Amino acid sequence: MMSQATKAATPAAGPRFTDPDFVVIGSGAAGGVIAKELSVTGFTVVVLEQGPYLRPKDFTHDEVKTLLETYLTNDWGPQPNTFRKTPSDRAVTQPAVIYGRQVGGSTVHFTANYWRFHPIDFHERSRKGAIAGTGFDDWPMTYDELEPYYVKVEHEVGVSGLPSANPFDPPRSKPLAMPPLPIKSSGALAETVAPAMPSANAIAACKWLPDNELRVYSSEYERSGFQGGLEEYRVRWIEKYHAELQLFSRRTIDVPSLFVAGKSDWGVYQNPGDFERMKTAVCTRMLGTNFVEGAGHWVQQERPEEVSKLLVQFLKQ
Ligand SMILES: Cc1cc2nc3c(=O)[nH]c(=O)nc-3n(C[C@H](O)[C@H](O)[C@H](O)COP(=O)(O)OP(=O)(O)OC[C@H]3O[C@@H](n4cnc5c(N)ncnc54)[C@H](O)[C@@H]3O)c2cc1C
Repeated sequence: MMSQATKAATPAAGPRFTDPDFVVIGSGAAGGVIAKELSVTGFTVVVLEQGPYLRPKDFTHDEVKTLLETYLTNDWGPQPNTFRKTPSDRAVTQPAVIYGRQVGGSTVHFTANYWRFHPIDFHERSRKGAIAGTGFDDWPMTYDELEPYYVKVEHEVGVSGLPSANPFDPPRSKPLAMPPLPIKSSGALAETVAPAMPSANAIAACKWLPDNELRVYSSEYERSGFQGGLEEYRVRWIEKYHAELQLFSRRTIDVPSLFVAGKSDWGVYQNPGDFERMKTAVCTRMLGTNFVEGAGHWVQQERPEEVSKLLVQFLKQ
């Protein structure tokens, strides 16, 4: 790829330099920016890029292809990385780095989060002290010195967002170039429930599962892991437990059983058909299914009296 101050060159149509002022290897975030800055200043620059020059038609929404099958990333066969832990080790080939392999480098398919460092990041060594065995040091510049360059990049790239929405955002001399993107998925969930967020006083006055009671559960889980019904959280995704679980496959629960859930608990219907199967196929002596009004997923904490009453009745039966 070649570029020059006055001409937006393409690999096919660009001018040919036999004696450029600069040769830049790699056209990613670093190489691409330095090549552009040099060329607009009037230097002749040649950029050598190992990957292809892709166009919009070459991209698909296929994460497996682009990332796992290395369509947009380095392939550890032809582009091996070597790695060593200390200078005296022999470096060995190892899949250590994933990067974008095309004109534009990793910026072509990165996540495009444009965070700024915070002022403290530039002088952490002075604030937090040395770390033995490392070269941990302050930066040779301050946030204020770098800030105009953040602004320049944000406006050249067209970074979008609403900085005032983040109370931890570092100081800015200029707003972001573009308005925020529409809120989606988990953001929409948070936005929907935000107006119902209780005040700090209401939270402090809350009698339902305050921190000291919650600590009973969390310290027990830390001590013994998830047990009983909660075991599912641990075993569902860990293959070594699957064989053990098979022991219970198609077994039925033949002792008297009772089902209690909150009426607003969506979890009951999480896997369609499970609730009905529990009543007919899994528990052979089901004495009742109860949905407690005014409760969701945490019925025993939300409506302890009702749940206790149901349990006592069940035991009497
Ligand atoms: C999936 C993904 C998501 C990311 N998300 C973010 C994010 O949200 N925010 C953020 O700030 N950062 C993100 N990053 C990191 C960011 O993209 C990189 O830090 C940045 O692009 C690094 O710039 P670079 O110039 O050092 O390397 P790259 O941008 O990777 O460019 C290196 C270029 O050099 C070329 N090259 C390498 N060797 C040779 C050779 N021998 N000859 C010719 N060409 C060569 C490569 O093909 C590549 O084009 C992400 C990275 C990835 C992979």
